[in-house]
Amino acid sequence: MAAMTKEWLGGTTIFAEMSALAVRTGAINLGQGFPDTDGPEEVREAAVRALREGKGNQYPPGPGVPELRTAIAEHQLKRYGLAHDPDTEVLVTAGATEAIAAALLALVGTGDEVIALEPYYDSYAACIGMAGGTRVPVTLHPRDGAYHLDLDELRDAVTDRTRLILLNTPHNPTGTVLTREELAAVAELAVERDLLVVTDEVYEHLVFEGEHVPIASFPGMRERTLTISSAGKTFSFTGWKVGWVTGAPELVTAVRSAKQFLTYVASGPFQYAIAEALRLPESYFEGLRADLRAKRDLLSAGLAAAGFEVYRPAGTYFVTTDIRPLGESDGFAFCRALPERCGVVAVPNAVFYDHQKQGAPFVRFAFCKREDVLREATFRLRSL
Ligand code: PMP
Ligand code: GLN
Repeated sequence: MAAMTKEWLGGTTIFAEMSALAVRTGAINLGQGFPDTDGPEEVREAAVRALREGKGNQYPPGPGVPELRTAIAEHQLKRYGLAHDPDTEVLVTAGATEAIAAALLALVGTGDEVIALEPYYDSYAACIGMAGGTRVPVTLHPRDGAYHLDLDELRDAVTDRTRLILLNTPHNPTGTVLTREELAAVAELAVERDLLVVTDEVYEHLVFEGEHVPIASFPGMRERTLTISSAGKTFSFTGWKVGWVTGAPELVTAVRSAKQFLTYVASGPFQYAIAEALRLPESYFEGLRADLRAKRDLLSAGLAAAGFEVYRPAGTYFVTTDIRPLGESDGFAFCRALPERCGVVAVPNAVFYDHQKQGAPFVRFAFCKREDVLREATFRLRSL
């Protein structure tokens, strides 16, 4: 048999590995980022209605059902002032995961360099690899209780072979939300060096400090940016796998061309439900944010009391910690032992790094869980 040379073959994602460990040991799972309660009842009912009415039970249109594409375009306009034609500038995907894969497969060629903020979400490395590209990590550095982007390092990372910058804000796993000033600088660089930007904004509604600003809204960016988001995070239905891409027609067409050979289409009835979800009143989005902010504070305080150094996230539903104050330095070993030691599962940030050493002492905990679960987890962690 031919040699298996692809680095992502044969492995299991850290999320699957840690969720399996949680099931095996009965530990509280603060590893994989999924809520332990479902999203709004009316959205669930909308999906049931769609199923019963036979909406989306057969292949939906390739770009997504018009109801959802229109709702996505309305969302981008109302929140960010970004106008999109639902027919040519909006594409529905099987979660943000497929959007990322299709975008990279469509836009990156063999030998092209892709800059990604390190630590980076695990599928970025795999998809850059599948596209034949080379990833060029620009590392976010922990300082003063948060992670920061060094704009000089970003500028230095651009070469003649750079094809695109793969951005992620709010950022998983660090919880960093790039500021307007930082985004303006990234945008200027992209324009100056004629780069595309693919921006993963799945946590756009989970910002606790500062604001979420899409990079597509900066001068010169509308035509060179693909913006990705997902209903999984915003409406707590991660299993429905409804994601989307917005951007200029040529870029969206390129992504659609790749997408049609990946899933072709997905999530028929759920697309109708998410079209309704995107039109929920503002109180829903405020409630989600307030709920997760309180949970962030609860878990952050519990982790600090247990002896971790805590990097308080400005967004997302993850908190990154440093385990060195506990006398530990290897996040992998720490996470593999944690269920036995105190019945909690977390994720080692080293898996999100090329520079594994830099990521070694950091560990991520998810706080998209019920309050009683978080309280029990922090109680258990105190035994460390
Ligand atoms: N991007 C980031 C940064 C994520 O954290 C996740 C999932 N948690 C995804 C993409 C994938 O989203 P989806 O489940 O919609 O495929
Ligand atoms: N994005 C989720 C996380 O970061 C996991 C999703 C997955 O397992 N692919 O935890």
